[in-house]
Amino acid sequence: MEMNEFVIANEKIIRMGFFFGILIVMALWEFIAPRRALTISKSVRWVNNLGLVFFNSFLLRVIFPAAAVGMAVFASDNGWGIFNYYNLPFWLAVAASVVIMDFVIYLQHVMVHAVPALWRLHRMHHADLDFDVTTGARFHPLEIILSMLIKFATIAVLGPPVVAVVIFEVLLNATSMFNHSNVRLPLGLDRLLRWVVVTPDMHRVHHSIEDDETNSNFGFSLPWWDRLLGTYRDQPRGGHESMTIGIRKYREPKQVSWLPGMMTLPFKGKISDYAINRRQWHDSHEK
Ligand SMILES: [Zn+2]
Ligand SMILES: [Zn+2]
Repeated sequence: MEMNEFVIANEKIIRMGFFFGILIVMALWEFIAPRRALTISKSVRWVNNLGLVFFNSFLLRVIFPAAAVGMAVFASDNGWGIFNYYNLPFWLAVAASVVIMDFVIYLQHVMVHAVPALWRLHRMHHADLDFDVTTGARFHPLEIILSMLIKFATIAVLGPPVVAVVIFEVLLNATSMFNHSNVRLPLGLDRLLRWVVVTPDMHRVHHSIEDDETNSNFGFSLPWWDRLLGTYRDQPRGGHESMTIGIRKYREPKQVSWLPGMMTLPFKGKISDYAINRRQWHDSHEK
């Protein structure tokens, strides 16, 4: 109980501390050992992508001041959800909650690629012409709101321990910054790490301009869902250094790298534009 109170009281500080801590570590790592050359200058990327992050956190605080943690407290006070109904050992409820919430995020990610209208929101994340730590936090405000509503629904059904929600949020944020980083990792280490966490090389495949590559590796924290459910892809055909990042149709920096263009991107083009169920690639290179 005491731990719960401490976590609830310091939730914002804990999350902010991890965000800035990991941001600094990954930014230094990108500086020392970058994987690819950037096409857009670092200052433009930092100002616009991180500007969006600050705007999104402000927006979330205004719309949902209690956030996911508040929802977990509410669920536990009212006896909502599976884990509030069955009395499981605390550690088991925490571990299972984190894993299940990660699975929901995986499903949500597949969904925003599959449903054309939702893809319009999510494609702002993919329109980034580069792939670095700032990409990891670059999501359209409408997608951020949608994510929060899905999180609320998941928490209401699951009734996870409050601590599990904080662990999940910190973990999701940390792994997202890690796996979007433009960092060079020894290939052997990458292969090992991939069994427990999504690595930058694994997630970079998902940011490929090639439709079949972008429709793979949907995992954010845990890499297992892709392997279990058939969306896993080892490496990009073009190699990590020469593959093209982004979306084929949107290559204009003004549109995809500057905030006004980024914000209006969901409203560009026809509603039926590309989504996961519309194959536009050829089978010639497939076996
Ligand atoms: Zn995606
Ligand atoms: Zn991504």
